[in-house]
Amino acid sequence: MKHRNKVIVVGGGIMGASAAWHLSKAGAAVTLIERAPNDLSSATAASFGWVGASASTPSDNPAAFAERLKALEEFVRLARELGPLPIAARGALLWRSTEDETTAMIAEHRTAGTRIERLARAQVAEMEPMLAEPPPLAAWAPGDFALEPTAFARQLLTGAQAARACVRQGTVEAIEATGHRITGVVIEGRTLPADIVVLANGCGARTLASTVGVDLPIHASPAVLIRFGAQAHGIRHLICAQDMELRPALGGGLVSAADCPEDGEPGLSALATQTGNAIAHLLGTATTPSLLSINAVQRPMTADGRPLCGAVGNIEGLYAVVAHPGVILAPLLGRRCAEAVLGS
Ligand SMILES: Cc1cc2nc3c(=O)[nH]c(=O)nc-3n(C[C@H](O)[C@H](O)[C@H](O)COP(=O)(O)OP(=O)(O)OC[C@H]3O[C@@H](n4cnc5c(N)ncnc54)[C@H](O)[C@@H]3O)c2cc1C
Repeated sequence: MKHRNKVIVVGGGIMGASAAWHLSKAGAAVTLIERAPNDLSSATAASFGWVGASASTPSDNPAAFAERLKALEEFVRLARELGPLPIAARGALLWRSTEDETTAMIAEHRTAGTRIERLARAQVAEMEPMLAEPPPLAAWAPGDFALEPTAFARQLLTGAQAARACVRQGTVEAIEATGHRITGVVIEGRTLPADIVVLANGCGARTLASTVGVDLPIHASPAVLIRFGAQAHGIRHLICAQDMELRPALGGGLVSAADCPEDGEPGLSALATQTGNAIAHLLGTATTPSLLSINAVQRPMTADGRPLCGAVGNIEGLYAVVAHPGVILAPLLGRRCAEAVLGS
């Protein structure tokens, strides 16, 4: 890439923020365009923010799992360069329905290289004194942590601006190319010239790429984030209690993530009630926590589960950075994307 080529990053979620920060820090002239900066329907705004390997099952996709382990190392670098990250909880406690299942989970993770320990009931009770009935056996992942994803994206964007990136609001309607070369993007009917366009707009990247005839293997998959206002819950860590994911929020309260109800299953308000009851049961309290919000949001996924990161299609200057799980992968992929752009 010629030194001050104009780079447009589309999307200000965690992927766009990371790409913009890595690019601008390396000297590129970056403009990041975000359609709705405070939109709660982006995947980043609704993310649970679990950063660690223990939340995944290694055998589901060994290559993707190995990539996640690699991605975790990047957070140390980021904290060194950006300052303290917005961490809501450190360490994860996980247990399955039976001791045998928890033992099998621990064994699988150890084989795959995850840092994970066995904790007996008394140790779990010490870690999480508010649990009404600690499980007889839990897995403890000391290196896992929960980030507030929106605050993390903001931190990266602020860092990018400090490195002279321009962040502006607008909807990119199309990409422009002459022959097989990027020339810009169209925002609200007007062309904004660019030499490089990085599609970091999650589920919307497929539609934008199609405006220059490029088909990206991206689809959307919904998940649900539920926020509770429980003030005195006393939960200290990330918890995966059988199927329920729970963590404290940075500003108080609790956050839970769940699969989206399928057609024919009870809807979102039933899910919120069920989760509130499960939390009350976990903590042995008579009252359920107060519901603050429940959002079903589309997560960008790639067809084979492997990240899209780098040049795409046969258009010179067109790049994409889209992957799941995006919070874990954003530091690694932001760096790789910048290297691909700057090395071109
Ligand atoms: C409930 C839930 C729980 C999750 N839990 C985890 C977890 O624990 N750990 C983890 O790592 N990941 C988790 N994920 C996944 C993770 O949140 C996503 O992978 C990640 O946030 C994707 O980030 P993104 O920047 O690619 O997309 P997004 O956050 O969706 O950002 C894309 C941005 O592009 C903007 N945009 C779109 N089109 C345009 C356009 N044409 N012009 C301008 N701007 C545009 C949008 O407004 C949006 O802000 C979870 C997701 C959900 C929903």
